[in-house]
Amino acid sequence: MTKAAISLIQTGLRDLGYAPGPVDGLFGAQTNAAVRSWLSANGTAAQTGLRPATAAMLYQGAARYPVEEVVVHCSATRPNWMAGSELADQFAEIRRWHIQDRGWRDIGYHWVIGRDGKVMAGRPETEIGAHVEGRNRGTIGICLIGGHGSTERDRFSQNFTPAQDLTLRQMLQAIGMRTQIRRISGHNEYAAKACPGFQVAAWLKEAA
Ligand SMILES: [Zn+2]
Repeated sequence: MTKAAISLIQTGLRDLGYAPGPVDGLFGAQTNAAVRSWLSANGTAAQTGLRPATAAMLYQGAARYPVEEVVVHCSATRPNWMAGSELADQFAEIRRWHIQDRGWRDIGYHWVIGRDGKVMAGRPETEIGAHVEGRNRGTIGICLIGGHGSTERDRFSQNFTPAQDLTLRQMLQAIGMRTQIRRISGHNEYAAKACPGFQVAAWLKEAA
């Protein structure tokens, strides 16, 4: 596994309340112990392989809604938006929009992917997000930075970077390991919006 993939697993474990140690992309003793506790908590300790045969169930909102879907979004910002800033600063700006402009208690997304493919965690996956009207329960919202002026017929590569493509695919794989997602969709499938600026189903088929 790449360092990026291990980092994503570490972030996910941390988000689920396990203690994988620092998110450094290295599969050390602490990460190993955290994976073992996660696996045994999910009754799959005896299973081998990357993806447990018995898929994990992750619930939201006081354990009422199993996570069954990932909805992909974009920030609708220009490619050079806050150029030179860290992802943390861009994340803080989006969070400010959601709290100050929309009156939400936190950023609406669970994850944000920067132009360079780095990731920041928003709401814990065990909390219901605010990212797609009428479908926030049981869904995980991932936001790609960029996408200003995009249409839903654009190709991923017209508005986003190869690093974002790689990270999003790795994240979807990692989320699939800890949830029972049955569907990966785009915001534009549920609202008259271009967001995320491509057809998610078509992009998924581009893989391999
Ligand atoms: Zn959206």
